[in-house]
Amino acid sequence: MSRVLSFDLPDIENLLMLNPRVKTCASLRSTATTKIDKAHWKRNAAKNYSSYEKLENNFDDIKHTTLSERGALREAMRCLKCADAPCQKSCPTNLDIKSFITSIANKNYYGAAKSILSDNPLGLTCGMVCPTSDLCVGGCNLHASEEGAINIGGLQQFATEVFKEMKIPQVRNPSLPPPEELPKSFHPKIALIGCGPASISCASFLARLGYSDITIFEKEEYIGGLSTSEIPQFRLPYDVVKFEIKLMKDLGVKIVHGKGLGIEGMTLETLKEDGYKTVFIGIGLPEPKRDLIFEGLTVEHGFYTSKEFLPLVAKASKTGLCACRSGLPSLQGTVIVLGAGDTAFDCATSALRCGAHRVFVVFRKGFTNIRAVPEEVELAKQEKCEFLPYMSPRRIILKGQRISAIEFVHTEQNDAGDWIEDEDQVIRLKANVVISAFGSILSNSSGFSNG
Ligand SMILES: Cc1cc2nc3c(=O)[nH]c(=O)nc-3n(C[C@H](O)[C@H](O)[C@H](O)COP(=O)(O)OP(=O)(O)OC[C@H]3O[C@@H](n4cnc5c(N)ncnc54)[C@H](O)[C@@H]3O)c2cc1C
Ligand code: SF4
Repeated sequence: MSRVLSFDLPDIENLLMLNPRVKTCASLRSTATTKIDKAHWKRNAAKNYSSYEKLENNFDDIKHTTLSERGALREAMRCLKCADAPCQKSCPTNLDIKSFITSIANKNYYGAAKSILSDNPLGLTCGMVCPTSDLCVGGCNLHASEEGAINIGGLQQFATEVFKEMKIPQVRNPSLPPPEELPKSFHPKIALIGCGPASISCASFLARLGYSDITIFEKEEYIGGLSTSEIPQFRLPYDVVKFEIKLMKDLGVKIVHGKGLGIEGMTLETLKEDGYKTVFIGIGLPEPKRDLIFEGLTVEHGFYTSKEFLPLVAKASKTGLCACRSGLPSLQGTVIVLGAGDTAFDCATSALRCGAHRVFVVFRKGFTNIRAVPEEVELAKQEKCEFLPYMSPRRIILKGQRISAIEFVHTEQNDAGDWIEDEDQVIRLKANVVISAFGSILSNSSGFSNG
């Protein structure tokens, strides 16, 4: 007895029968021809594709979260506007996420940006570089759905970018009395040291409250702290920082360049003598951690710390940042990046843009211990950086005055959870350039030799 295919019309099986007019012979096409056609029509990268050459000197946006209007509208429509909105509970800047997403869905991009920038004066920067998978996106109720969590960072970037193009200045809260009618306590001299994200945010909120005499002292000629000097152009363009600074300046905040604590004799005492009643110190963490095994190594040898390398890349790639018109550091051959934090992956992807032929990201623990956010790791992976886990650097080998290789020992975690280094398992990797982008390391052995 034949299987019942349908409960529809009794003759449905006849209708569905293989139509005898279909082709009676197979189409013949050689595998070689198909391969040629496949290569011609391929949209995604081939497995053995090398993106290195294409990336050299290319600082275009590479964020997968960046959305067009069409993409933003579709994404905003997907949002459930959850009653509990866990996305909002995970946002360190307390953005009203479902409200701005609703505004985007209604094509009210101004309203969305207003909501974002009101809660976070660095709303565009954060839309571009916030580690959202650890924050709002990590909490989104749609995480387990087929389409996944909402691309909140992308939506935030979209709305604030549209607002940026509107060129609308920031104004004082109209419900505040005019400055001259505010009590004296709103007019003390306030100094902020360092013009990074911390001071920009602090100064913007103080100015919004009505404080009228705010000055930021920045030792460098550029503004924006690490957002400018270290986060690469392809993740955070300098334009974005300038836009947020402009909004802050709209409220009357002043910036003095080339001055700061410890510069030209400025101290907290001298600031006090100059009439400053309040000082906010937002100078970040300027010193790189440098392991003893790198003692004596310089850029001339082919050794950089991330704090030496990334500012050089930024100066050369961020238009308007530096009048010096310095070129990109020229990296050739194999580059080894040490570390597994966000900085290491920024160094790796930047190295490709400086001409590196192969980039290895080498770290001491396993893949499950990588500290960087998945977005950054994924980018490096797609750009064909290689990852080498369980390796701790031991010795740099020089040939002449250049780095030629680096020796590692194998690391492993014992049953007690402690990380140990196995001195008997030594691995040597060829290297032309080494970039260290880590904090403290397990090893405290030192020394390098001419090999
Ligand atoms: C490579 C890299 C990638 C990063 N990526 C991300 C990311 O994707 N997402 C994210 O959220 N965060 C990221 N961060 C972290 C983020 O950049 C910092 O958390 C943030 O910049 C800290 O801001 P800040 O204002 O405290 O300090 P900083 O940004 O360090 O700014 C301090 C400012 O103070 C100035 N200064 C220092 N000393 C003095 C002085 N004595 N007098 C006057 N001025 C002084 C400095 O020149 C600088 O402009 C990244 C950091 C790095 C290094
Ligand atoms: S948790 Fe996700 S779906 Fe719910 S409001 Fe937030 S972004 Fe929208």
